[in-house]
Amino acid sequence: RSQEIIDNFKKCLAERRLDQEIKVITSGCFGFCEKGPIVKIAPDNTFYVSVTPEDVEEIVEEHIVKGRKVYRLLFTDPNTAEHVSDSKHMDFYKKQMRIALRNCGFIDPENIDEYIAQDGYLALGNILESMTPAEVIDVMKKSGLRGRGGGGFPTGLKWEFASKFHSDDGKYVICNADEGDPGAFMDRSILEGDPHSIVEAMTICGYAIGANNGLVYIRAEYPLAVKRLRRAIEDARNSGLLGDNILGSGFSFDIDIRYGAGAFVCGEETALIHSMEGERGEPTSKPPFPAEKGFWGKPSNVNNVETFANVPAIFLKGADWFSSIGSEKSKGTKVFALAGKVNNVGLVEVPMGTTLREVIFEIGGGIRDGRKFKAVQTGGPSGGCLTEKDLDTPIDFDNLLAAGSMMGSGGMIVVDDTDCMPAVAKFYLEFTVEESCGKCTPCRVGNKRLHEILEKITDGKGTMEDLKTLKDLSNVIKDTSLCGLGQTAPNPVLSTLNSFWDEYVAHVKDHK
Ligand code: SF4
Repeated sequence: RSQEIIDNFKKCLAERRLDQEIKVITSGCFGFCEKGPIVKIAPDNTFYVSVTPEDVEEIVEEHIVKGRKVYRLLFTDPNTAEHVSDSKHMDFYKKQMRIALRNCGFIDPENIDEYIAQDGYLALGNILESMTPAEVIDVMKKSGLRGRGGGGFPTGLKWEFASKFHSDDGKYVICNADEGDPGAFMDRSILEGDPHSIVEAMTICGYAIGANNGLVYIRAEYPLAVKRLRRAIEDARNSGLLGDNILGSGFSFDIDIRYGAGAFVCGEETALIHSMEGERGEPTSKPPFPAEKGFWGKPSNVNNVETFANVPAIFLKGADWFSSIGSEKSKGTKVFALAGKVNNVGLVEVPMGTTLREVIFEIGGGIRDGRKFKAVQTGGPSGGCLTEKDLDTPIDFDNLLAAGSMMGSGGMIVVDDTDCMPAVAKFYLEFTVEESCGKCTPCRVGNKRLHEILEKITDGKGTMEDLKTLKDLSNVIKDTSLCGLGQTAPNPVLSTLNSFWDEYVAHVKDHK
C-alpha cells in the first residue's frame, strides 16, 4: 500500500508539473504503526495518518496546490477531539526521546547525503582525526551505554575486553541483527530507516578495538533491511568511508553481510558465530568469550543493532550528555515494540526510567475498546508478565529484573481482562519449544513437558498436582539449561503462576 501511495504522489505531481519542485522521499518507519501509512509534508511538518492510495490526489490538490490542510486525514486527539497536524504535539511522541531512532522517518535511508546532512559520519571523522582507540573506549565507558540486545552488559567494557586480544590474521566487529522476539521489530526498523548509523558505529568500534573486519548477521526474512544495508555499505565504500585508508587516516575497515535463517537461539553470541561459520546455530559454554575466540576462533566483539545505533550520537553530543539521560544504572533511552491490546501500537523510544504506566497509557493511549489493563509481558519469551502493581515501576534493566521480568530486546505486549494468562504463558512456551536448538535435555525435553501440562490446564483437564509440577519443572529447567534460551524459557510460566495463581487454580478440575 505504501508503494502505491508513493507512486500516486509521483504521478499526481508530474501531472501538475510539480515534480521538479517537490520531491517524494521514501523514509524509514515513523514508529506510529497504528496510524500508518503516514505521509509527512515538509517544510510545514504536516503529518497525515492512515493515508490510502486514493487520498493522494486530494492531498496534492488541497495541501500542495491550494495550501489547505486535509483535516480528515490529520490525527485526532482522543481527549480533546481536536485535529493535530504536527507530530510533536501528539501524545504518542510527546514523551519519547529519539536517539537510536533519531533519523528513522526523517531521512531517505538510501541517500548517503541525507545521512551526512544530519551530521552522519562526523563522529567517525572526528575520531579518526583526533582520538586514540583507548580514548574512544573511555568515552564509551563514561557514557554508561549497556547492550540493548537483552544482556545489558556495559558496551565500553565489552569493547575494552575485545581490544586486549590480538590476532595477526583477523579480528571482527559483529553486528547482531538476528532479532527474534515475537512482536519485536526495532532492529529491523533501524536498519530500514537509518542503515548508515550502523555502518558508522561498526567502523568506530573497529577502530577502538583494532579490528579491520565487520560482519552483520541479519535474518534473511528482512529483505528491505538487507537491501538498504547493502546500499549503505556500497555508498560508504564509494565515498571513502569504508575500505582502505578511511578518510586518509591509515585505518582500514570493511563490512560484509551474513544471513540467518530466523532461529531465535542465534541471537545468542556463540550460536550466532557458529551459524555464521556455516555450522548449526547451537550455543557453546563460555568462557572462552567471543572477545577472545569468536568468528573462526579470532577475537570478536558482538553488539546488537540498537546498541550500535546509539554510538555516533554519543560521540557527537558527548558521554556526559548521554549519561545524563536515564536512570542511575541504565543510561540513555530504550526502544520498545509496543503491541497487543493498546490503542497506539508502534515503536517507541523513551528515556530509561520512564514508567510502564507512561508508556502504556500516555504514549500507548491506554487499553483498546475501553477494556481493563491486566498485564504486560516485557522481554519477549524470556521475560515475564508484570501487573497493575508494577505500572509505576521506572523501566530500566535492574527494576524490570527486580519486578520479575526483564528488558530483553524491548518487546512489550499488553494483555487486557479478556485474556487468559495460562494461554498467554502457553503461547510463549510454544515459541521457545519450537526454537530450542535441542542440544541440552532440560530445555529440549523439559520445555515440551511444560507445554503439555499447560495444554492440559488450558483444556480444563489439569490438576492441582500439575500446577505443582509446573512450578518445580520450571525451576529445574532454569537451573540446568545450557544457554539463556532454556534458562529463561520458563519465565512467562513462573511469572504468571506467581501473579495469577487464582486463575490457574480456576482452570484445574480438582480445585476446591
Ligand atoms: Fe539449545 Fe535450549 Fe540448550 Fe540453549 S538451553 S543450548 S537453546 S537446548
